[in-house]
Amino acid sequence: MPLNRRETIELASAIEERRTALAAEIRREVARARNESYAELAGAVHDTGDEALADLVADLDNAEVKRDLTEVRELEAARARIADGSYGVCVDCGADVPVARMRAQLAARRCIACQGQYEKTYAVGERPTL
Ligand SMILES: [Zn+2]
Repeated sequence: MPLNRRETIELASAIEERRTALAAEIRREVARARNESYAELAGAVHDTGDEALADLVADLDNAEVKRDLTEVRELEAARARIADGSYGVCVDCGADVPVARMRAQLAARRCIACQGQYEKTYAVGERPTL
């Protein structure tokens, strides 16, 4: 079953919430790394847009911040899919992704079956062991 309007609105607002929280988290981390106060930095950077955040962390080598920024970008992409109507539809097989999965993984692009296949093929999340 495709996402209905109510579910889409619910997920869109969850995406916004998560994105705002991540943007705040990124600023907090950057402020700490630069020894600036959060207020100072928040004042300087009002724009929580993708590029503004990317600029903010460009010179920062911090794994946690980079992970947060990746998630922000995934959420941006999810928001674009909501706008073009492809949100909640598996990019690989075209099946409707159950709302429970979308709630758990707001930026999910695939149904569980295709995601499993994708991860097997590309070994997503595997870190090289040193
Ligand atoms: Zn699929």
